Amino acid sequence: MARFDYDLFVIGGGSGGVRAARMAAQAGARVALAEEWRMGGTCVIRGCIPKKLFVYASQFRENILDSKGYGWDFGDCTFDWPTLIANKDREIARLEWLYTANVEKAGVTIFQDRAVFDDEHTLLLLNEGRKVTAEKILIATGNRPTREMGTSHVIPGGDLCITSDEAFHLERLPRRVLIAGGGYIALEFAHIFHGLGSDVSLVYRGEKPLRGFDNCLRDALLESMQSRGIEVLLGCEFTKVEKRGVSLHAETNKGAVIECDQIMLAIGRQPNTMALHVEKAGVELGKRGEVRVDEYSRTTNPHIHAVGDVTDRVQLTPVAIHEAMCFVETAFKDNPTRPDHVHVASAVFTTPEIATVGLSEEMALLKGHSIDVFKSSFRPLLHTLGGRPVRTLMKLVVDAKTDKVLGCHIFGDHASEIIQIVAVTLRMGATKKDFDRTIALHPTAAEELVTMRTKSYSRSP
Ligand code: NDP
Repeated sequence: MARFDYDLFVIGGGSGGVRAARMAAQAGARVALAEEWRMGGTCVIRGCIPKKLFVYASQFRENILDSKGYGWDFGDCTFDWPTLIANKDREIARLEWLYTANVEKAGVTIFQDRAVFDDEHTLLLLNEGRKVTAEKILIATGNRPTREMGTSHVIPGGDLCITSDEAFHLERLPRRVLIAGGGYIALEFAHIFHGLGSDVSLVYRGEKPLRGFDNCLRDALLESMQSRGIEVLLGCEFTKVEKRGVSLHAETNKGAVIECDQIMLAIGRQPNTMALHVEKAGVELGKRGEVRVDEYSRTTNPHIHAVGDVTDRVQLTPVAIHEAMCFVETAFKDNPTRPDHVHVASAVFTTPEIATVGLSEEMALLKGHSIDVFKSSFRPLLHTLGGRPVRTLMKLVVDAKTDKVLGCHIFGDHASEIIQIVAVTLRMGATKKDFDRTIALHPTAAEELVTMRTKSYSRSP
């Protein structure tokens, strides 16, 4: 008789957990997975997928307006928020069903329950009130939006604010929205609400949004937001939120009071390790509550691993999936495999998009590279007749000694679709010469990446 109920118990049914459970089961392991809410996790249920549907929804108005230059006239256009929500919910329910079906098909037992540690091999299922044991355990519980602002406290009235979780289920589209933060979620939702017709103000504590991204992208995005009519308040934080009548009033550190209908906090996310009782299993947490792991995603207890957002490494769905696959190779296929976090492309789905892979100009210098920078800023062909005063920016950061392309940064339509393939070239060690001898595909925006012959400038650390 087996010593444990399962060979692997996965806590969390998001991107990382689901992939690990399925692959381990396919490798012959007896696997169970506990998900306390809906299968699919942040990405499917309240993140990437519904967000991208919202992004699409937010871009129709602009496209229809711009089509006038091409001879189209659609008359009066109206938008119905409840239709968007209902259709989005139907698609998310379909994906959730697919996730569940695929996991079950692989032979994994799913518990719709909250699992917490009882000891290093035992989990307590809180709803069922029973214990299960497993030889190996994978923590894949993800993270959640934080509400702690300023000096790590919830501001007075903070409970009147929503986060991205609630933004997917609002009863009506707010007329005036205030968004706090300057990262991925704040910027994406600022453009979503703006595109759908809300008045949007972004309140960010820094000097310009998207800290850590290449400065040229940050400047281009800030200028674009301002020219679109999204108000950006920099060096600014809320100190208090109050409800007065039907509106909300946010007081800022600059003494201003901003009236609006909805306030959204997008000020980062915190790992879901609260009340998981990892201490009973000898699993240590880091300062932000993240599960501490080594390069093989092993926690401080060698038979307990963790993948995805709960480890606070790179918070991206494909990275969680990659970590999960490496975990299965390591723990079930006798093939120790470290996740590789180099050259991970990412995109911020603003309008237009930001997409980036490799080193920013600033990071390349910090890492000691002497660099040549190639930049191109141009008006996309689409907008010549459309009349919208937008510009696309493309930038290559090249190592001056080796000619290797260290980073590629794009602000423009379809940037995310372009950067995926650029990531392949960087992974293969492409040089600027490789870009130069690639024949352009005309007329596209992407052709600029292979036709930037003259360097814009050089810099040394
Ligand atoms: P980010 O880390 O991207 O941004 C958090 C923002 O909140 C930063 O601008 C930060 O400012 C600000 N902030 C942090 N703490 C405070 C505070 N106490 N008071 C005021 N402002 C504060 O987090 P997000 O929540 O936007 O997204 C989480 C992660 O999820 C992202 O990092 C990304 O990895 C992933 N994600 C990816 C998406 C995609 O691939 N398109 C989409 C959405 C999320 P500062 O810069 O000054 O620190």
